[in-house]
Amino acid sequence: MSEKYDLIIIGGGPGGLAAAELVTAKKKRVLIIEKDGWGGTCTHHGCIPTKALLSCSKYYADLKKLKRLGINITDASVDFSTIKKHQQQIVKVSALGAQKILTDAGVETKQGTGEIISSSEVRFTDSSGKNEIFSTQNIIIAWGSVPQVLPEINLSDHVLTSDGILNLNLLPASIVIVGGSFIGVEFATFFAELGVKVNLVELLEQILPNEDQETVDLLRQELIRWGINIHTSTKLESLKNTDSGVVVQAKKNGEQLELNAECALLCTGRKPLLHSKELDELGIEYTKAGIKIDENMMTNVASIYAVGDVTGGMMLAHRATQQAKVAAGHICGDGTLNYNEKFIPSVVYSHPQIARVGLMQKQAEAEGLSVEVVKSSYSANIIARAELMGQGFVKAIFHQDKLIGATIVGDHAAELITPLALAVSNGLTKKQLRSWVIPHPTLSEIFVPLLG
Ligand SMILES: Cc1cc2nc3c(=O)[nH]c(=O)nc-3n(C[C@H](O)[C@H](O)[C@H](O)COP(=O)(O)OP(=O)(O)OC[C@H]3O[C@@H](n4cnc5c(N)ncnc54)[C@H](O)[C@@H]3O)c2cc1C
Repeated sequence: MSEKYDLIIIGGGPGGLAAAELVTAKKKRVLIIEKDGWGGTCTHHGCIPTKALLSCSKYYADLKKLKRLGINITDASVDFSTIKKHQQQIVKVSALGAQKILTDAGVETKQGTGEIISSSEVRFTDSSGKNEIFSTQNIIIAWGSVPQVLPEINLSDHVLTSDGILNLNLLPASIVIVGGSFIGVEFATFFAELGVKVNLVELLEQILPNEDQETVDLLRQELIRWGINIHTSTKLESLKNTDSGVVVQAKKNGEQLELNAECALLCTGRKPLLHSKELDELGIEYTKAGIKIDENMMTNVASIYAVGDVTGGMMLAHRATQQAKVAAGHICGDGTLNYNEKFIPSVVYSHPQIARVGLMQKQAEAEGLSVEVVKSSYSANIIARAELMGQGFVKAIFHQDKLIGATIVGDHAAELITPLALAVSNGLTKKQLRSWVIPHPTLSEIFVPLLG
């Protein structure tokens, strides 16, 4: 056995990277092992490529508004190969950024597979099959998650998951998206804005079932305006390849529905990557929803931690990072940082975006809290009007004068939720919010009515 580390991390996504940087900064010896690309799902198959694509489709879609500002553009068209180059370039920048963080921090890195063989030993195997065992005081599992595919579906060149669709080199004329989750809705937005015929199939009564109904209603109207056919309460029955693409059979409110398209995208959820044999041998407790952890992100086996998607729950990059910070603090003997899932903001990067933090009105009421709901609309904000942002609103939820949650639908909702996440996580009251001075004129003035 060679070399002794304070910490070995398996998985170089947002969770693994954050833990590596923080623990190394405390003068500990850290090794991080990644089998694919630095930055993980987020950089290579998730947050980054999708947002690069959505920025292109939004620019294109927004061209249609310019006429109202006296700007006439004739011949606008889409060059999908250039869009793909933008996607690839942004992914490259993000991956290099991840590597730079590790190098600058002085983290030791290895490219290959990590396997935990005991609570103090990790086997590293490189691409040639050569392996080495390292000993360590602590281990963080940051394996991430993978797309969940319905068992009866066979993937092909035309039947793709979110991983596969990001490798598409030609823009399809039509697509069926199965699953109205945030991933499905974001891809539906992207394709529809570029003029692709989109059918979106969702089993439940509502797309984005975890979001506030009122925000989803507004988004839904906008998606329909873009020509997306949304089929809710629709159960997929079969998905078959044809000579020209795919044919989807589904049952919608008891009636048969047949949809033909060039390709199908499956967005039927993600599941934690559970190397079950390894976990079983180590006696680490898990369910199919993820590895079980305590408030310090430690598994039931002392000195083995798990962070990010592998622990289930909200599968978001900044959640993985926050969990990693807590685990890193615990490893370094600093237990000052707490983790609270309620303070994790979430964003659907559709157009308009939906963002929220803390409790939604329905959740607060279900918890028996007496709530005051304060709403503020984009139509009353002068920057939203000047920039032709369209409809949107902020809904703030107060309980006993304290901000306990907020939901936003509209342009830049992802940016607007950020100060509210700070307010909610610090339990700010209306009185405290009143000292918040907001520059004029800004979209952020949408918060003024919330200050009472
Ligand atoms: C299409 C899509 C869009 C998304 N958009 C957003 C978004 O806008 N915002 C957001 O917050 N989240 C988004 N997400 C979710 C986000 O990508 C994940 O929540 C985040 O990447 C989880 O981070 P992680 O560190 O837990 O795992 P990951 O990022 O999945 O990283 C895990 C890493 O572990 C490596 N690994 C696994 N097993 C081993 C092993 N045995 N040895 C070595 N390495 C191993 C994997 O190769 C991988 O690189 C999106 C996801 C998808 C699929």
